[in-house]
Amino acid sequence: MNLILLGAPGAGKGTQAEVISQALSIPQISTGNMLREAVKNGTEYGMKAKAAMDSGALVSDDIVIGILKERIAQDDCKNGFILDGFPRSVPQAEALDEMGVKIDKVLEIFVPDETIKERVSGRRVCEDCGASYHVQFKPTKTEGVCDKCGGATVIRKDDQPETVLERLATYHKTTEPLKAYYEKQGKLETVVGQEEVADTTALTLKAVGVK
Ligand code: ADP
Ligand code: ZN
Repeated sequence: MNLILLGAPGAGKGTQAEVISQALSIPQISTGNMLREAVKNGTEYGMKAKAAMDSGALVSDDIVIGILKERIAQDDCKNGFILDGFPRSVPQAEALDEMGVKIDKVLEIFVPDETIKERVSGRRVCEDCGASYHVQFKPTKTEGVCDKCGGATVIRKDDQPETVLERLATYHKTTEPLKAYYEKQGKLETVVGQEEVADTTALTLKAVGVK
């Protein structure tokens, strides 16, 4: 199954993507994580992406489409994948269609802006492996230490309050039109993000046909 997870920054789409990935044994492909990795490693892509990411803007379509294309050509994507954070614009969705990638379902995780502004301040991400946490909703077992790899968990640079507002604006302007795009194809399903992660997870699994 090929899935797309759509949602505003901080809506919890990464967490839900991880849940589905485990339930269906298909890889989670997070363009945000791949870009952060590229920035950390100082690759050519990374250097070009950094300024846009730090300001809360989108990285240019050609860079992201290039990265995505390489990733889904890998062997582990043969039985399906979950796109977490891609596409984020109509041209990116059109690029997927042009690549001949068939999408089975698009899940939108919906959380109102007000809730997002509160939530993002508690978000932490592992410096080493990219795993994400939340001080209140998804805490690490030991404060500041990644459960998965023992790396340090830190606040993302683009999770500063002003940058979050910018990212929300970008989402509404550039990414949200994808809802109509996929609705027209009969693929869009909305899951309303709940206060408890476990409750959202239950809805997500139901939407993809598990349980
Ligand atoms: P969030 O969904 O919480 O905003 P992500 O980790 O998905 O965070 O993305 C972080 C940043 O990486 C985005 O603000 C953007 O600058 C860049 N990015 C990620 N995916 C894309 C994409 N498909 N197109 C353009 N930029 C992207
Ligand atoms: Zn880690």
